[in-house]
Amino acid sequence: MNVLVINCGSSSLKFQLIDTDSKDMLAKGICERIGIDGRLVYQKAGGEKEKSDKAMPTHNEAIKYVLEALQNEATGVIKSLDEIGAVGHRIVHGAENFTESVVLNDEILAKIEECNDLAPLHNPANLIGVRACQDAMPSTPMIGVFDTAFHQTMPEHAYIYGLPYEYYEDYKVRRYGFHGTSHSFVSKRVAEIVGKPVEDLKIIVCHLGNGSSICAVKNGKSVDTSMGLTPLEGLVMGTRCGDVDPAILEYLHNKKGFDVDDIMKVLNKESGVYGISKLSSDFRDLTDAKLKGDHKATLALTVFAYRVAKYIGSYVAAMNGVDVIAFTAGIGENDELVRADVMPYLGYLGIELDEEANNIRGEEVTISTKDSKVQVMVVPTNEELAIARETVNLL
Ligand code: AMP
Repeated sequence: MNVLVINCGSSSLKFQLIDTDSKDMLAKGICERIGIDGRLVYQKAGGEKEKSDKAMPTHNEAIKYVLEALQNEATGVIKSLDEIGAVGHRIVHGAENFTESVVLNDEILAKIEECNDLAPLHNPANLIGVRACQDAMPSTPMIGVFDTAFHQTMPEHAYIYGLPYEYYEDYKVRRYGFHGTSHSFVSKRVAEIVGKPVEDLKIIVCHLGNGSSICAVKNGKSVDTSMGLTPLEGLVMGTRCGDVDPAILEYLHNKKGFDVDDIMKVLNKESGVYGISKLSSDFRDLTDAKLKGDHKATLALTVFAYRVAKYIGSYVAAMNGVDVIAFTAGIGENDELVRADVMPYLGYLGIELDEEANNIRGEEVTISTKDSKVQVMVVPTNEELAIARETVNLL
């Protein structure tokens, strides 16, 4: 079946058309600057990227252009919309309302809307994308796949903050976790690769990208993860601070006169490796600068690896052991230097780096030596394929 996967932001809409039988991506692209002017970037599998400026006052026009591009005589990949069997939508926050993917209908959309306060930048945009697709393809099934759903198996002691309990009861303040589609996909793939049921394994998945999170997957279930109520908690990220002392908010307010919005902007957009290095959130830039002797870039990379290693250690404790550690996403898959920086911290687990294997790019590979007591792997994630598969499973 062909599944159209949609990942909608407030002013953008990413899409992929996937043939779930062959697992092939048929075409992909992005609509940018929706509500401003509008631009469609479209790429057929194996083809060149085509960019065209198109007026996109709302997401409805964006969807219209995507569907036209997919059916275009010269560069399209389908003849009619009947060839799209279903649409899988990434929905960021499902709170406690959703423990798994769902078929979207009016009642479900209202329940997703109830979660909007928890992800004000993401959920409303996700819903706009769903409605635009419903308008364009009224008889095609729409499925919602939640970033938070995989982590709904976390035990109470992992998700409750040390805050007054009524904030959880009244306002649902708790840890939720994100990147669930990726953590689920990679942990299942790890089990396939090592040839054991996922139910018999303790796996730590390190999803290291622009946003980064780590997940402890015990017997196929998420038992803890580093992101919390929002994707700000946990690791030091591209521009997000991760774990900090909350009293820093008051301190910065007193010192710099920052209000809550100012401080949130700093913590989300001006912190992380970018904030430390004052240079870039991209690890390629930081590595270049490190090679030229830049102290702050070197420090940013060291802080990043140290935090990753500390989280791995805490999840070994949470699961009372670990069988496999997997690196994935932009940095986890491509940056052998970051992996090489993390590995020495794992010596107490009987892990040693296979330097030659660590330099292999873009494929599934074991980067620990054969003698290591715990296997460390690189497993490329594919969130779009995971969403497409979930969509087919649900139907
Ligand atoms: P993601 O959010 O998973 O798409 O990851 C994006 C990030 O991955 C970028 O900001 C870079 O820091 C990092 N990245 C991507 N490609 C490479 C590469 N070849 N080497 C090092 N880092 C990379």
